[in-house]
Amino acid sequence: MPSRLDLRSLVRSASQLAGRDPLRRFARLAQESPELGAGATVQWSASAQERADGQGQPQIWLHLKAQAALPLTCQRCLEAVDTQLLVDRSFRFVASEQIAEEQDDEAQEDLLVFEGEFDLHQLLEDELLLALPLIARHASCPAEPALSVVDADFVSPSPGPASPFAVLASLKAGPTGKAG
Ligand SMILES: [Zn+2]
Repeated sequence: MPSRLDLRSLVRSASQLAGRDPLRRFARLAQESPELGAGATVQWSASAQERADGQGQPQIWLHLKAQAALPLTCQRCLEAVDTQLLVDRSFRFVASEQIAEEQDDEAQEDLLVFEGEFDLHQLLEDELLLALPLIARHASCPAEPALSVVDADFVSPSPGPASPFAVLASLKAGPTGKAG
């Protein structure tokens, strides 16, 4: 996966870039997964076209797709829950940050500022992070939530040794009359 991709040559090639990369190479994403296996991958593809806008000006569009599965921590039972991430996004490149801000509200697609080259790896990782669920949890947890076992540690009061006061009372009530 190129971290510096020449956008114009991707447009000219009219082909699709695609690959499968180890999930561990996406450091920020891997950090979200405590039990990431070595075999976990991100499958991705990227293509770009030039299209004319309403004024006949050429605009570069990028279409990005990705798919990954990674174990996250279930927020209910704290066990791993396999989570699918899907990315399917269109981006349009504009000439400046100012144009991006002006057009952002009405654009369905995401706007990026054209700088000739861009970091495909970083863009893809950003999109995968956005695809993470707000709260990961099993549809149905395999085990009972950990909270329900807390009561098992509660020790009920049991008959122990007699209190010192009871012992004292029995001494006082002992045999009398020896001094007489
Ligand atoms: Zn769970």
